[in-house]
Amino acid sequence: MDINSSNIEQIVRQVLDSMNGKPAAPVASGAIPATAKVAMLTSLEKFEIKEYPMPVVGDDDVLVKVEGCGVCGTDAHEYKRDPFGLIPVALGHEGTGEIVKMGKNVKVDSAGKPLKVGDKVVTCMIFKDNPDITMYDLNKQNVGGADVYGLLPDDDVHLNGWFSDYILVRGGSTIFNVSDLDLDSRILIEPCAVLIHAVERAKTTGILRFNSRVVVQGCGPIGLICIAVLRTMGIENIVAVDGEEKRLQFAKEMGANATVNFKNHNGIEALADGVKNAFGGYLADFAFQCTGSPIAHSNIYKFIRNGGGLCELGFFINGGDATINPHFDICSKEITTVGSWVYTLRDYATTFDFLKRAKGIGLPIEKLITHKYPLEQIDEAFKTNLKMEGLKIAIVNK
Ligand SMILES: [Zn+2]
Repeated sequence: MDINSSNIEQIVRQVLDSMNGKPAAPVASGAIPATAKVAMLTSLEKFEIKEYPMPVVGDDDVLVKVEGCGVCGTDAHEYKRDPFGLIPVALGHEGTGEIVKMGKNVKVDSAGKPLKVGDKVVTCMIFKDNPDITMYDLNKQNVGGADVYGLLPDDDVHLNGWFSDYILVRGGSTIFNVSDLDLDSRILIEPCAVLIHAVERAKTTGILRFNSRVVVQGCGPIGLICIAVLRTMGIENIVAVDGEEKRLQFAKEMGANATVNFKNHNGIEALADGVKNAFGGYLADFAFQCTGSPIAHSNIYKFIRNGGGLCELGFFINGGDATINPHFDICSKEITTVGSWVYTLRDYATTFDFLKRAKGIGLPIEKLITHKYPLEQIDEAFKTNLKMEGLKIAIVNK
């Protein structure tokens, strides 16, 4: 057996605890095992299920038993190409689970809500002394570029990603008590936060109103959640654009009242007419661009009326250059454009309420999770993700 220092520390701590008459470990969902499993990406397209000694939980740390974690586009990029040079890495940042052990200094979550063993939690970014990312100042920057669990280099703790059965959330991390949300909703928090932020950005233009005609281009998980967020805000005149009938049907379930399949329209003029017809003869007041395709970016201006607005959020990573005609597309139409990327810490907390409201008005948010795999089948999960057949793929532990 590989006994390292943290292992010895844990044993000593347990012996001392038992001498004080305390139980060896708090029991939430059963006793904490001596080891934890981590799906470690050890080379391109290769996960290995590794077993590591359960780390010592420091005074500011929280040990979480992982219940599930969504597979993100970023994870798929790491799996295929390792663009961030992280291998070996424990991936998974859209995770959630139950607190099984807490350090003595941990009393509340990042929003001030009490925390106890048994609570369900999610994490957001890890603070690196960046005062411009805060919870309460609405004008602070987004968390882009900040450290997150699931995209950290491996270290001697190893429990750094949510594709695992335990994760050690260390002091200085943001953690939120989301015990009032079901597991599927909790797995969807991170991608939903991206849309809460995008809609907040869109609102800064002053163009997005209750009765606005809104076009959402791209009906992957991001576009579909965009439609749901707009619906929970009371916006009802939504047209969804995509090339797949199945996704367009889903867009209707999420709240779109008309759809346009771009494959049925030859050329951009015909497509723009298709969008106009779907709005009963009007162009859109506002557009959300939710694909990573440069051509889709070039096209979207044609869907927007003079004086309308655009939120571009499809290019989470560099997808190349797009061509537009500055005169026709922006100047002469006086289009107001905003870009959106990731979310602020405040948007993250807003997302919890959005998920409750979406359920409240009957939107089938949980249907976004089309595939669930146990940790042992993580390779399978990633292959399904790369085939682009489903929407959100999730690892769900037993
Ligand atoms: Zn993600």
